[in-house]
Amino acid sequence: MINRVVILGGGTAGWMSAAALAKSLAGGPVSITLVESEAIGTVGVGEATIPPIMIYNNALGISEADFVRATKATFKLGIEFANWRKQGVSYFHPFGMLGSDMDGISFMHYWLRWRKNGGATDFLSFNAEACAARENKFAWVENEAGPKMLPDVNYAYHFDAGLYAKFLREFAEARGVSRIEGKVSEVTQNPHTGDIEKLLLENGRVVEGDLFIDCSGFRGMLIEQVYQTGYEDWSHWLPVDSAVAVPSASTGELLPYTRSIAHDAGWQWRIPLQHRVGNGYVYCSKYTSDEQAREVLLNNLDGEALAEPRTLRFTTGVRKKSWVNNCIAVGLSSGFLEPLESTSIHLIQRAVHKILAMFPRSKIQPSLVERFNREMYQEYDEVKDFLIAHYAITERDDSPFWRYVKNMELPASLVEKLEVFKERGEVLVNRYDMFRETSWFAVLLGQGFEPEGYHPVADAISDEQLHMRLTHIRNAVAKRVSTLPKHGEFVRKHYM
Ligand code: FAD
Repeated sequence: MINRVVILGGGTAGWMSAAALAKSLAGGPVSITLVESEAIGTVGVGEATIPPIMIYNNALGISEADFVRATKATFKLGIEFANWRKQGVSYFHPFGMLGSDMDGISFMHYWLRWRKNGGATDFLSFNAEACAARENKFAWVENEAGPKMLPDVNYAYHFDAGLYAKFLREFAEARGVSRIEGKVSEVTQNPHTGDIEKLLLENGRVVEGDLFIDCSGFRGMLIEQVYQTGYEDWSHWLPVDSAVAVPSASTGELLPYTRSIAHDAGWQWRIPLQHRVGNGYVYCSKYTSDEQAREVLLNNLDGEALAEPRTLRFTTGVRKKSWVNNCIAVGLSSGFLEPLESTSIHLIQRAVHKILAMFPRSKIQPSLVERFNREMYQEYDEVKDFLIAHYAITERDDSPFWRYVKNMELPASLVEKLEVFKERGEVLVNRYDMFRETSWFAVLLGQGFEPEGYHPVADAISDEQLHMRLTHIRNAVAKRVSTLPKHGEFVRKHYM
């Protein structure tokens, strides 16, 4: 029977796994133990999220107010990309929808037709999140259904990664998870099956288990060091391989969005929290040195640096298999695509969801393992193309890094997507893709990639109808935004 789950690692992946498993399994025969080493520590970054995090928090029954207070969170409506298309030009990738779909096709096709006929050129005026972000506004909204319904405001959070792990630890421990402090130095496998049986700690302690979740970070202590599963390296498409991170003092208004600012050899994030700003420069070490990167970051802070900058290394890509024998990798041990669209925490959530759905009872079935591996690979693969598009479609050719990404060979799946988009403004999405039409449309147009046509169905309504429908949507968006307070005021009033 699978009765003893052992989680190796107490970063975001470890505690998200522990909390979700504890919530679902507590009270039954399964025990959960988490081993972590304070001496090794966690990666300590990972502070911007995307809206599905709400599904995770709701499944755990976490109160939003408790969570926002405990993690010193703020609200995120999307990401502003500055200098990506070219120096001095910015665009916004919002959450939520652009307009609303009509007659079975996306709103974008109607907007493309309208623009062609001299209508509004600003497609973001049809998106409540982008319009609210422009005015630094935010609140949760409640609607009464009906014809006067105003658009929703979809959001995610920025939070302090250390406080989030602490918050989840308290949640998990309250539901019976045992935490063991110590550094794992050896792993014992069953000589016949190859299954992991025990973790041996430097302090002499032995932790036995039936199912091991490897949340040990980039090192992949179980999935790679024990099983040598192999890593599919995507750095030829996503060549950034380093980051330098530093917190800084808050200044000015509290922004309800992440800022991503392109530099010569990568890009910089700015993540506003209640008590500080998280900053980092993600760069490619082939095109700049650590010292230069550090200098670029420190010269581009809004407020005073609050700690010594920390450098991190990584290789973009995915573990060839996340589940082998009785070991499942979750978090950085299963892959990393770089933080451009804040997808890593979401990929942890997806993995945890699948582990619970496929949780083995008496034995581990190979068909479920195969399914888990296939689905997790797809999750990473779909995000990969979206990230590559940010780099590859650019007018920048002012540094060796930008010349490389502008001219690199693209994955066939992305080439196909871009061809269809160019011809008819249509985004090919699969049913479970994390990034859908609005995201692709905002980023492709933001990067300067213009479609030549639109879907023929958009021609089926009259000019008057088109004008009436689009004006109605735009007015509803403006009305919604006019009801919102400033984000800073909102956060201070409810959480600080
Ligand atoms: P870690 O945080 O590295 O934790 C590993 C754990 O394993 C630690 O507790 C460590 O002590 C333990 N451990 C390892 N070896 C041993 C051992 N031998 N014995 C005992 N314990 C051991 N994600 C987002 O969603 N949004 C973002 O904005 C974002 N920004 C990022 C920016 C950068 C530069 C990087 C590198 C990542 C970013 N991420 C982001 C990813 C995010 O940080 C990670 O997905 C998340 O923190 C999960 O990390 P982890 O728990 O897998 O690994």
